[in-house]
Amino acid sequence: MSIAKNLKEIKANLKEGVELVAVSKTKPSAYIKEAYAEGQRIFGENRPQELKAKAEELPKDIEWHMIGHLQSKKTKYIAPFVSLIHSVDKLSLLQEIDKRAAQNDRVIDVLLQIYIAKEESKFGMDEEEVIELLNSEDFKSLKNVRVVGLMGMATNTDKEDVIRNEFKGLKTFFDSIKNLSISTPLNMTNFNTLSMGMSGDFKIAMEEGSNLVRIGSSIFGSRG
Ligand SMILES: *Cc1c(COP(=O)(O)O)cnc(C)c1O
Repeated sequence: MSIAKNLKEIKANLKEGVELVAVSKTKPSAYIKEAYAEGQRIFGENRPQELKAKAEELPKDIEWHMIGHLQSKKTKYIAPFVSLIHSVDKLSLLQEIDKRAAQNDRVIDVLLQIYIAKEESKFGMDEEEVIELLNSEDFKSLKNVRVVGLMGMATNTDKEDVIRNEFKGLKTFFDSIKNLSISTPLNMTNFNTLSMGMSGDFKIAMEEGSNLVRIGSSIFGSRG
């Protein structure tokens, strides 16, 4: 397996305007260095402590994305430097991120994770919960967190029509929020990011409007 070769192949398949998060969770820093040497700068992890440890030993111009479920109490590990948190699924987590961001004198960009799959195990909010959250005074009062888009994971299936429909639904919802203008200037300016698509379904996701794909195993090999 060659990380460089895999990465080149993935990049050759990205549509214009689509950014790549190289998902390096569980993989050693040496793998990240290989991708870095090929010019990759955005890496995704799903465990805060692992993310922090890797960030400390790897080049400072890497943009670290937190892609997995985030427990509020672990926000502190990544708040000083994380570039984007993809997986915000409740107001209390937004409030914790806001608090930690303020302590670090910065604004943290986040995506709201939307539940689109027909699987019990996946995290995320439904559309009604999102609208309610974005309209709430509690949300509007947050000063150090900015919602810049949405993230969703499709059902893990080989039925392409199922996956496509889930992505299509998320894109429609994304567009409707963009047009709502329910937001305060600070915490929803730049609402432009739609994170959908992984190794198995990123081509469908791009066809349905994704502009940020999260790819792990196709670059770094399976996680066993
Ligand atoms: C692990 C993970 C990925 C990458 O999955 P692959 O199938 O290895 O590409 C993408 N998104 C999230 C949220 C993940 O947890």
